[in-house]
Amino acid sequence: MKNLLEGFLSTLFPRSCPLCRSVILDRGACFCPSCLEGFETIREPFCRRCGSPLPHGMPDREDALCGVCLSRGPGFPVPFTVRSIALYAGNVRTAILRLKFGRERPVGRSLSLFVKEHYGRFFPAEAFHSILPVPLHPRRLREREFNQCVLLARPLAAHLGISLDLHTVERVRHTSPQSASTEAERRKNLRGAFRVRRPERIRGRSILLFDDVYTTGATLEELARSVLSAGPRRLCGLTLARSPSPGIHP
Ligand SMILES: [Zn+2]
Ligand SMILES: [Zn+2]
Repeated sequence: MKNLLEGFLSTLFPRSCPLCRSVILDRGACFCPSCLEGFETIREPFCRRCGSPLPHGMPDREDALCGVCLSRGPGFPVPFTVRSIALYAGNVRTAILRLKFGRERPVGRSLSLFVKEHYGRFFPAEAFHSILPVPLHPRRLREREFNQCVLLARPLAAHLGISLDLHTVERVRHTSPQSASTEAERRKNLRGAFRVRRPERIRGRSILLFDDVYTTGATLEELARSVLSAGPRRLCGLTLARSPSPGIHP
């Protein structure tokens, strides 16, 4: 009955793919099948600490680490793990740029469904008490009018029945990625960028940090450093996308 009704509705009100405008027959799909083919999802084997994809054919071991994490040694810079859903390339990159700079919210809504669909590949449904999207500085928020991380994580939080925490941590320093030319400068710029306003909402709880793109990991690590100071039980990070090679992205 439900399928009949859905079929009827999709004939009357066809949905279009927010990227290419072609008609989507499956009403539950986030993008059309041909656009989704241009999404390069990250699958095993990946680094068990930072989530970066490892060369195909490497054994998928619980302790597999990428070259960067190996060179940093245990626990450096902060003890937490990150997973990324797809490479920041092809249609994923196009969609994120159209959301952030073209302010195309329908693209954002479809990307948020994509995040919700892929979460279960990395974490169990009951793993966290709340999702904490990377906060934007109020100045950046005024320029962009929305925080893309909040928009991207909202359906996931609703689906898991956990809170989307927008008030516990604030961004107290405005930093521009363009102002730093090296990774070291970028990390230095980010120092002290976040402040925990309500540590009682972190202490003893399991928290998932969410960012749109993982470039060098500097932003998530700085946020993790602040959150860890409030004593969470467990802290992980999830990003929609990840740069194929570390660098600065717009
Ligand atoms: Zn499409
Ligand atoms: Zn790694």
